[in-house]
Parts: sequence; C-alpha cells; structure tokens
Amino acid sequence: MNFNIAVIPGDGIGPDITEQAILVLQKVGEKFNHSFTFTEVLAGGIAIDKRGKALPEDTLEICKTSDAVLLGAVGGPKWDTLPGNERPEQALLGLRSALGLFANLRPALLYEPLKEACTLRPDLVEGGLDLMVVRELTGGIYFGERGFREGKYGEEAYDTEAYSKVEVERIARVAFDIAMQRDKKLTSVDKANILESSRLWRAVVEEVSKEYPEVELNHLYVDNTAMQLVRNPKQFDVIVTSNMFGDILSDEASMITGSIGMLPSASLGEGTLGMYEPIHGSAPDIAGQNKANPLATILSVAMMLRHSFHLEEEAKAVEEAVVGVLEKGYRTGDIMSSGMTQVGTKEMGQLVLENL
Ligand code: NAD
Repeated sequence: MNFNIAVIPGDGIGPDITEQAILVLQKVGEKFNHSFTFTEVLAGGIAIDKRGKALPEDTLEICKTSDAVLLGAVGGPKWDTLPGNERPEQALLGLRSALGLFANLRPALLYEPLKEACTLRPDLVEGGLDLMVVRELTGGIYFGERGFREGKYGEEAYDTEAYSKVEVERIARVAFDIAMQRDKKLTSVDKANILESSRLWRAVVEEVSKEYPEVELNHLYVDNTAMQLVRNPKQFDVIVTSNMFGDILSDEASMITGSIGMLPSASLGEGTLGMYEPIHGSAPDIAGQNKANPLATILSVAMMLRHSFHLEEEAKAVEEAVVGVLEKGYRTGDIMSSGMTQVGTKEMGQLVLENL
C-alpha cells in the first residue's frame, strides 16, 4: 500500500527524532511491502523565522491532503517572549482545529525493562502498567467563551466549559472502539456532582455505551481519578475525559511511567487522518547533540500504522523492536541506569532498525 506522510520536524530535538522515525517507517515499508512518501513541511519556531508565522498555509494544505502527519516538537526559548497568539505552539492548535482532530490518545505504558523509572512503589505496578487516556481535544473550557467583565469584586476574568451532545458522542465512540481493541474496560471521568456539562457528558456516555454491550463502563469524578491513578493505576484500561481534565490526567498517567522520552501520542478526527507526535517538548537543552531519545517518536509511528493505516502487524513489529532494544540493555541518557549501555539518538534508531 501507498501512504503520504507530512513530516513536521519543528524545533529543538524535533529534527533529530523525526529523522529516526522516518528511517523506521522506511524499513517497515521494505519489510512489509508498503511505500511511504514523506513531505517535509515547516511549522513552529522555524516557520516563524523563515515564513513569519507558526503555521504557514502551504503546511496546512499539505497536512490536510496527507494520510497522516508526523510531528517532532515545536517551541523554544528563542520564541518565548512573543505574544501568546504568535508563539510556535499556535501551530499545534491550528493543526488540531483545521484537521478536525478531536480525540487525543495518550498511552501510559510502563515497559518491563524500564520499571525502575516508575515513580510509584513497585508492588503497585507489579507486572507492568498499560493504560490509555482518551482526551477530548477541540471543545470544553479551552475553546469556550472567555473574557473580562465587571464582577462582585470588580473586574474579573472568566472562561466557560461547554460541551454539546455531538462532541461527547464522538469522543465516547473513539474511546469505546479503543476499549474494544484492548481489555474492554472504560472509565469515563467527569465532575458530574458539580458541573452541568459533566452531567450531560455522563448521560451521553451512558447512551453510547448501549452500542458496546461488551465494554464494562464505569464513571469516576476527576478528583477521585487523580487519586486512583497513584493509588492503584492498574485498575484502569481506557480513560475518556474532557479537554482540561484529560490534559492534567494524561500528564499524571504518563509521569507514573517515569520516562518522558518513551511516550507517544495520536490525535484523531472523523476519518483516518491523524497527527502523531511524542508527548515531550522540543528539549532545547539537548537539541542537535545526538542525545535525544527517539523512541517516543518511533512509537508514535507505530500508532500511525495502527490508527491511520490499520496496519496492526506492522505496528506491533515496531513496538516489539523497541522492547527488544530495551531488553538488550541499550538506553539513551534520559532512561540510563547502571549496568546498561548508553547510546545516542542515531545509534538508538539504528538498533530499532536492526531489531525490525
Ligand atoms: P521538554 O519536554 O522539551 O523537556 C523537559 C525535559 O525532558 C528536558 O530536560 C529535556 O531535555 C528532557 N527531554 C524531553 N524529551 C526528551 C527526549 N526525547 N530525550 C531525552 N530527553 C528529553 O519540556 P520543556 O522543557 O518544558 O519545553 C521545551 C519547549 O518545548 C518549550 O518551548 C515548550 O513550549 C515546548 N513544548 C512543545 C510541545 C510540543 O511540541 N508538542 C510539548 C511540550 C512542550
């Protein structure tokens, strides 16, 4: 099969890590007889420098007409003083909304060879940890009406949380579909004891659950979920929640695994087009030094193979190649521990290729 992939290396370590992910995809192409065509486009700080804006129109056009988008990371100290709406991160918001990417998938996977990196007591994650946070990405308080007004104590600022039935239905379906591919257990997280929008959320998720009788659904309040994640994270399989709650809980879940350089993410919409990126940022402190861990980006490519191209065998092959490298004791600096062999970005990429 033939797939067109828009590649946004972006800033900082972005070019270092996307280079390795492309090599992995090329190897997958050779091994499984697919062809991948890569079109590199500008976004983020580098686009501000070269083209005057974080998300140039031609970048957006190429992303829209591709089968998937691979993103490294954007941002860095050079652009930190720009006003909010001119910063590199605007490229991410622009891409998500223009491509209709309303579902953000963030797996938190604790790899057996890296279990010492886990920040929790070993007995709490005995046998590993594998959960998926599905976050609504284009609605809720981050996109609601906001402003300043005269309040009880003088001028006040406000933001509003609003969700429509349609928005909740479609994110719920994504989450149920993913639960069906996993352990068939879904936790919907809200604050239905306080918020009207959460009460609608809960009712709609209940309604959608009738289409998925095999999936065991439960509801938890967000404050309880935050506690349960550090108390007994193994109780979770798939978590679905709103934009803001998902922002916070997905970071909490991923940090339990202790290794930011290992975690991929996917942003999906109605069709098969998705955007795939590591959860970490542009790590300007190690950019261009062959120090960045490329595994989160390589695992993002595995998610691309699975969710946009429906190539499950190929996705698993990439994931197994990564685990194989870890089992052999190779580590980049960020996940290094005693007795292991430290390697750089390129060597790590090469090792994954050899394991493929
Ligand atoms: P960061 O994730 O870039 O870095 C945090 C720490 O983790 C740093 O010490 C860094 O060296 C390390 N690190 C991150 N990824 C690594 C990897 N693959 N291998 C080895 N070490 C790694 O977060 P930050 O320092 O808060 O942000 C730096 C810049 O990235 C900022 O401009 C921020 O706005 C931007 N950012 C971008 C995205 C994105 O593009 N999606 C996400 C988060 C932050």
